[in-house]
Amino acid sequence: MSVIKCPHCFTVSDHGVNICKGCRAEVRYGFGKRSVIVSFILSYFAATNTIHLLASFLPWITIDKSNGFIVIGVFLVVYFSIMLFICNKLFKNSIRFIRFTRI
Ligand SMILES: [Zn+2]
Repeated sequence: MSVIKCPHCFTVSDHGVNICKGCRAEVRYGFGKRSVIVSFILSYFAATNTIHLLASFLPWITIDKSNGFIVIGVFLVVYFSIMLFICNKLFKNSIRFIRFTRI
């Protein structure tokens, strides 16, 4: 089993622990909830921009309130999946030590 080292107190712990034994810092693996929310917002903007691009390049396609919701939804799901996939790859080995108490 691999070990991880706390950047705050330099205590070595087993990979997989949730709290640092030395300083009680919270240990988080992968990417956090905030990244998921940011990915979602970025996907939403990407989706709406794609629709504007589609509308300008393909003028015969009419995107209005009746189908816009579905089109945005489809692009949103596609972009969000891609972003989560990339984030998973990028932050697979990311470990963060979060210490709430400031000294
Ligand atoms: Zn620590």
